[in-house]
Amino acid sequence: MDRTDTDRRAPAGDPPLTYLDHAASTPVRDEVVEAMAPFAAQVFGHPSGHHRQARAARQAVEDARDQVAGLLGAVPGEVVFTSGGTEADNLAVLGVLGAAARRRSGGETVVVSSAIEHAAVLEACRAAAARLPGVEHARVGVDTRGVLDLERLGEALDARVSLVTVMLANNEVGTVQPLSDVVTLTRRLAPGAVVHTDAVQGAAWLDVALAARGVDLVSVSAHKLGGPKGAGALVVREGTELEPLVLGGGQERERRAGTHDVAGAVGLATAMAAVAKERDAEAVRVGALRDRLADGLLDAVPSVTEAADRKSVLPGLCHLCFEGVDREELVVLLDEAGVCVSAGAACASGALEPSHVLAAMGVPARIARGSIRFSLGHTTSPADVERALAVVPEAVARLRG
Ligand code: PLP
Repeated sequence: MDRTDTDRRAPAGDPPLTYLDHAASTPVRDEVVEAMAPFAAQVFGHPSGHHRQARAARQAVEDARDQVAGLLGAVPGEVVFTSGGTEADNLAVLGVLGAAARRRSGGETVVVSSAIEHAAVLEACRAAAARLPGVEHARVGVDTRGVLDLERLGEALDARVSLVTVMLANNEVGTVQPLSDVVTLTRRLAPGAVVHTDAVQGAAWLDVALAARGVDLVSVSAHKLGGPKGAGALVVREGTELEPLVLGGGQERERRAGTHDVAGAVGLATAMAAVAKERDAEAVRVGALRDRLADGLLDAVPSVTEAADRKSVLPGLCHLCFEGVDREELVVLLDEAGVCVSAGAACASGALEPSHVLAAMGVPARIARGSIRFSLGHTTSPADVERALAVVPEAVARLRG
């Protein structure tokens, strides 16, 4: 680790920066900036061309593809570069269902998702049901810890199902989902279906090749891993029928047209390699910092609940509900003190929506109103945690007062 958030100080006069919003986006790693730099300058060719500039760009894309494939347990031809996690999720859901609807020529088919998927999956499922003839969307709930209800999943699976989509880990509360059970159940009860996982959050902490073994489609996003925003990938297992969403030049073996974002692909691969190298040590280091933060706040602040069971949560996630506090007000107050956190899912306008994840877990609206996500990552230091422990109790007391 070369820099900490404490070093990435705000301009003079501003409070020190304590960045605890890594699940929203991570600081870009130094090695990623370095690896991407040539593609913003010297290497500018179109990767589909036929001269030396083009060849250099194409080589970079193909090297990145090899690296991403290796790290995700795929072969290079299965990796489709996208503009991030949202596009990868949209392509998986609408691409598979588009192909299924055509194959079944208007006959009934079902997409089964968990109730706590990211909007990139849920909205794509809703759009598929609204636009494609014969497509239905079934949502399977979670238990009070935020873990998928496998019994309900079993009940939802039958021969009509074309797609099952369950995230590797949730972005709000951080719960890791029982993916291998999802794959086993799907193969047994809906043998014609393919399985997709949104591994956008999970990839920062888990070995996706292992955790998503047997899954047909896997989405990842670079900016959750110390890579650039606007770069991601979808693994599409060989033989999976998928209709493209973006049409044009036939890039990515006809699965996603458009001139490649060469720097983005290189940035994604470099970030994923960095995560893989430090994964085990970082899970222990950051997990201990997270425990210190969660236990410290639970001790220091009355009427706080931890949304999920820490044993089944990613090491960087700490989701707490502060009773009697409005989460938006708390985020603003903490921001004034230089502590950056998040209050559940924010839409493009920045407005906070009620959390469908907490609702699915059965958290009463009164408690969910005060929910805050602290998320730690590769630049988080003990000083960041101590600063949050010094600032948060006082801010909560002020709002309650
Ligand atoms: N899926 C999950 C679980 C996420 O947390 C996010 C981002 O917050 C996305 C998908 C969307 O990824 P991107 O920001 O790369 O579009």
